[in-house]
Amino acid sequence: LEQQFLRAQRLESLGSLASGIAHDLNNVLTPIVGAAQLLPMTLPNLDDRNRRLLNMLVESSKRGSGLVKQILTFARGMDGERTTLQVRHILAEIISVARQTFPKSIVILTGSANEIQVNHTSEDLWMVSVDATQIHQVLMNLFVNARDAMPNGGSLTASTANIVIDADYVARHGQPPVGAYILMTIADTGIGMTTEMLDRIFDPFFTTKQTGTGLGLSTVQGIVKAHGGAIEVESEIGRGTCFKIYLPAIHSKEAEASAAPADLYDGKG
Ligand code: ADP
Repeated sequence: LEQQFLRAQRLESLGSLASGIAHDLNNVLTPIVGAAQLLPMTLPNLDDRNRRLLNMLVESSKRGSGLVKQILTFARGMDGERTTLQVRHILAEIISVARQTFPKSIVILTGSANEIQVNHTSEDLWMVSVDATQIHQVLMNLFVNARDAMPNGGSLTASTANIVIDADYVARHGQPPVGAYILMTIADTGIGMTTEMLDRIFDPFFTTKQTGTGLGLSTVQGIVKAHGGAIEVESEIGRGTCFKIYLPAIHSKEAEASAAPADLYDGKG
């Protein structure tokens, strides 16, 4: 209990520290966003390459101020802004950034739902009601960790699937609660982790990296929990790591009917 208390206290001071930093950073980012947006107008004869670079600057600085706002709301303990969307759109954006900025020795693949051996249905990916900036941050953190885990290259596979969690599944995995979810998996062929490390990766400030903050996965966990979702991790030293993120799905009555046990995927076909 004392440990829980200390942890809560540590998280609270972390929260006020974070909101202080976020506030100051916001003042720095605002003119960057503004200037980046103005530049195409003052430099009308940009060639394609420079236009792309500028575009990246605009998008990243906007993302930066989105993150800062998110830290501010997160530290204040609010839910953020929910919109109904398909996570595939957010994932596509991250994949595009990763393909442009990760080392060429890292191959980024997209898996199909069929490769995931879970109770999935064949229809279109269900929608989720999420804070897009927060889910963007979750995926970005997982992608960056996967990159860092593959200093000599390898492959990062990202996939999405509809999944119905039934009582059986909960009995086997302990989580998430029974219901309809979107499952996102981010798998790498990197250095992997020991079980001792796995026990600690969600602790704030746990890092094995020289310049790491150890805040990435605790933020990921906080966001996923705030969305009513769950996280699972599998890892093996020298083989790689797979993160599974479940987000509650919005789905119609028909979707529920077609996901009845008789139609459940058996992972073989
Ligand atoms: P940081 O990336 O700043 O270290 P995180 O909370 O994101 O903070 O990660 C904590 C630690 O978990 C990392 O330092 C690393 O040891 C381990 N880790 C996270 N993701 C992976 C991965 N995909 N493969 C191997 N180790 C990982």
